Amino acid sequence: ALGDKIYAGLFHPTAGPVNLYEARFASGKQRILAMAENLVCPWPDCKVPADRCQVHHIDAHKNGGQTNPSNLTTLCAYHNGVNDDGARDVRHEKSRGRMIRHRGQVKLVTPGGKLLGNTHDLSTMGAMDLI
Ligand SMILES: [Zn+2]
Repeated sequence: ALGDKIYAGLFHPTAGPVNLYEARFASGKQRILAMAENLVCPWPDCKVPADRCQVHHIDAHKNGGQTNPSNLTTLCAYHNGVNDDGARDVRHEKSRGRMIRHRGQVKLVTPGGKLLGNTHDLSTMGAMDLI
């Protein structure tokens, strides 16, 4: 382990900086992308708007998940706290499930294995629903 203060940047020889893979926190641009994708917290039945959400690593940073746009989503503070970061089996009786990216979209995998999205009206207006 290199510690919490070590960052590794990837630089293309002609295109320049490509990514900063070990950053712990999302950049401003990454946060905007996450908010554009999910206008409300993507946990089913949640109504918290994206601008009041936290940026969440879908594959937990502590488990090696990278801070890049495809691994980030917004979650409200409550759902970010109850999301199972993969430390235990999602079928565990105390698990509330966890967010995954499925076919490009962020969904909840319930402890029973169902894939659920948020059906809030604004959920259908996120960037991934518009393409
Ligand atoms: Zn929420």
